[in-house]
Amino acid sequence: MAAATAAAATPTASTRLLRHTAGAPVPGPHQIKFSTSLELRHRSAARLSPAPALLPDRVTPFNFDADGDDHPREECGVFGVIGDPDASSLCYLGLQKLQHRGEEGAGIAAAGVDGKLKSVTGLGLVGDVFRDPARLANLPGDAAIGHVRYSTAGAAAALRNVQPFLAAYRFGQVAVAHNGNLVNYQALRNRLEAQGSIFNTSSDTEVILHLIATSLSRPLLSRICDACERLAGAYSLLFLTADKLFAVRDPMGFRPLVMGRRPNGAVVFASETCALDLIDATYEREVAPGEVVVVDRRDMSVSSACLVPHRPRKSCVFEHIYFALPHSVVFGHAVHERRTAYGRALAEESPAPTADVVIPVPDSGFYAALGFAQASGLEFQQGLIRWHYSGRSFIQPSQAIRDLAVKLKLSPVRGVIEGKGVVVVDDSLVRGTTSSKIVRLLRDAGAREVHMRIASPPVIGSCLYGIDTPSEGELISNRMDLEGVRRTIGCDSLAFLSLDKLHSIYGDEAHELCDACFSRNYPVLPTVPEPVPELVSAFED
Ligand code: SF4
Repeated sequence: MAAATAAAATPTASTRLLRHTAGAPVPGPHQIKFSTSLELRHRSAARLSPAPALLPDRVTPFNFDADGDDHPREECGVFGVIGDPDASSLCYLGLQKLQHRGEEGAGIAAAGVDGKLKSVTGLGLVGDVFRDPARLANLPGDAAIGHVRYSTAGAAAALRNVQPFLAAYRFGQVAVAHNGNLVNYQALRNRLEAQGSIFNTSSDTEVILHLIATSLSRPLLSRICDACERLAGAYSLLFLTADKLFAVRDPMGFRPLVMGRRPNGAVVFASETCALDLIDATYEREVAPGEVVVVDRRDMSVSSACLVPHRPRKSCVFEHIYFALPHSVVFGHAVHERRTAYGRALAEESPAPTADVVIPVPDSGFYAALGFAQASGLEFQQGLIRWHYSGRSFIQPSQAIRDLAVKLKLSPVRGVIEGKGVVVVDDSLVRGTTSSKIVRLLRDAGAREVHMRIASPPVIGSCLYGIDTPSEGELISNRMDLEGVRRTIGCDSLAFLSLDKLHSIYGDEAHELCDACFSRNYPVLPTVPEPVPELVSAFED
């Protein structure tokens, strides 16, 4: 199979389409078909006008794990492959590797040789959704996209919101998988509903399908560009049609998306490179911010276009700090190297001279603790053992049960800790609930001193771009000063990596990072939705 490698995107307004296979679809009215019988219509169309921006106090609800995990959560991961007869099985493996990016639902959509798209979605882990081999067998074809998601809604709504979404519009079927969060979702949805669009989910991703269906541009590549240029916020997207796979990244590049290739020429897209490694795909490059990569199933040609207007890059620094797996390369950097560098910088800024040993909070504090030990010359030990089989529950139990759940998940190694001055390194501190329990565990195991070191700045802002964080009122660093946090956690000393030091690790690239949860400098703010026009039932008259 011949495969033309795409040129790196060099966006200019006059050359948005670098190369594409032209089609000539018939223009006309466009309507997405979803399986719903309810129809609504409007007495009057909403006026379309720009709206001012605002910063909400609370963006997304935060769900507390019964096991006491206090980290923010990545909300999605995407994976796609085209040009391989085992596409859906490869997708299944890729999604398994991205499982940490979303544990509540998973799905795969595949394009069969007959050109028909089919999808299988379900609640739970990837292995649970596809436990029955018949489900994968039902997805034949050499092109597939998949999605893992973390949901915040109830089971019924959650099932409807599991991606990929598969829809039919005038020119055929299209499936979409989305990682990120649109900050103008409600404004767009209100406007589309005012024009007669019918929504089947509460997901911002469905808006994108409607924008594609109602775009007057053609062919599909232009419709996708047209739709995406109306979006604001974070989106790494995969679209699958009968003959093409499209990969799109928002102009600021908030969320990661990489491209690779298998030995047989199949082209692969994934949220993280660890998923490429698993299926023997070689990492080629990032999908550039604002780029649309198109792979044609018929000749495996790869072409590229770019969205306009262009924006300064703002990649999520929390991907490096916590979300991505340490063996991934994200935004061009090896994640484990970044985390080790944070730990070294933290030791330079805030040493613990009376300590004897450095231990990580497993698993995400591992490399930062290693860096701290390297820079401070202290012994590195595994003083806490993480138990991986506790699973997750979104039923909120009593505080006493939560406390016990932390002990279930983390166990101290008494021989490492007893009588020692211990530096315990974690990747971030959000609400502080887990940290205080860790300090208590270490003291109960005989630690002489406990020095908490956090390898990122204090979290003071909620994320608007696809990460589930607590409301700002719940963030411990918003509620009290450093000494107040130390007293609440109960450690002998506490220090965070400063934002300046974090920036210094990135040098000239520092301005290309989103660090809004540490600085509240939000690169793009939500759009105020216009008032919803009055709705009446189609059956009323
Ligand atoms: S606000 Fe924080 S978590 Fe959200 S994209 Fe920016 S750096 Fe990442």
